[in-house]
Amino acid sequence: MISEKMQGFVKNSSAIRAMFEEGKKLAAQYGPENVYDFSLGNPNVPAPAEVKDAILDIINNENPVLVHGYMNNSGFEDVRKTIAEHLNAQYHSRYSEKNILMTVGAAGGMNVILKTFLNPGDEVITFTPYFGEYRSYVGNYGGVLVEAATKEPAFEPDLADFAAKITNKTKIVIINSPNNPTGVVYSERTLVEIAEILYEKQALLKQPIYLLSDEPYRELAYDGVKVPWLPGYYLNTIVGYSFSKSLSLPGERIGYLVLPNEITDFEDVASAANTANRILGFVNAPSLMQRVAAKCLDAKTDVAFYDENRQLLYNALTEDGFTCVKPQGAFYLWVKSPEEDEKAFVFKAKERNLLIVPGSSFGCKGWVRIAYCVSHETVKNALPKFKSLAEEYGLGK
Ligand code: PLP
Repeated sequence: MISEKMQGFVKNSSAIRAMFEEGKKLAAQYGPENVYDFSLGNPNVPAPAEVKDAILDIINNENPVLVHGYMNNSGFEDVRKTIAEHLNAQYHSRYSEKNILMTVGAAGGMNVILKTFLNPGDEVITFTPYFGEYRSYVGNYGGVLVEAATKEPAFEPDLADFAAKITNKTKIVIINSPNNPTGVVYSERTLVEIAEILYEKQALLKQPIYLLSDEPYRELAYDGVKVPWLPGYYLNTIVGYSFSKSLSLPGERIGYLVLPNEITDFEDVASAANTANRILGFVNAPSLMQRVAAKCLDAKTDVAFYDENRQLLYNALTEDGFTCVKPQGAFYLWVKSPEEDEKAFVFKAKERNLLIVPGSSFGCKGWVRIAYCVSHETVKNALPKFKSLAEEYGLGK
């Protein structure tokens, strides 16, 4: 008999994954060209050429015993040092290898941090809508995910609601910007105010509150929008980064955590996170990919490719009469469901082989997410289907 906790996780298992599996079935039935699968954030852009070059270079020229062996649970020292220096050049910081912990993607890094900090019953605040897996990650350690609101139409955090949600049980606040699912990049003003609230609450409650900045989409920003570096605003910030989207390597499971010296109890946190990485069973991040990542820090994914899809979809759907948030980053379009029950809308979309994800998967009913990290053809061929959906709802009249 599986555990009661797992029964709960399985029951509430990811709607996104379910849709992705459904997409594969429909593709087998109707032919892949007739299925428009916007369900999963799986990049369609191939990894930059530097990745292949780095893999070959490492395999051909580095010592295989070292490349494929165990190392410090936090990762290879030289890799961590290279990443620290890369960050220092960008953000005028003074990180060293001591501040970097290599992880099994952003998901692995978040689990390391939540395991490091949470006692059962501790609270983790995040803003709706949010990446639905946060609920499971926090639940893994008996934590409670507390939702703070954002304000429509911009989907920026509602600061009064945020302040009201902070209690003496609050350990961590998760921020994800550029945001999955809205594509919003939180403004500098919002971040300054969030930092002010957190400093005030820390002083009032006499306890540290850590900010965990979940940043798999850091490099994916459009129209020259700058993504603020959160440790520059709030000292108790830990950054979780991933190469899944920035280098199109989601299956390779590689990322890192930045644990700045300035966070409260730095030495304890760094040593606990190192242990958490080991005892969660990751042991260490994939060794070859650590070395590849360090060689590809300047490599860029094709942001223009996603931008083309963004413009195409946003312009067409707005024209059709849908209400959409114009994405400033990531590769998701957040669209208001034309009927209250967005699951019914998702169902009508599926009848046209359009696979999109209900907002309730992100803690926000009444909206849907379209992942546009697909081919240009998929977007173009899907547009008439979206138009016919709009017509069915009498939009744009
Ligand atoms: N956080 C957010 C907001 C995401 O969208 C994702 C993946 O889509 C992750 C974390 C997990 O990323 P990774 O593949 O690096 O574990």
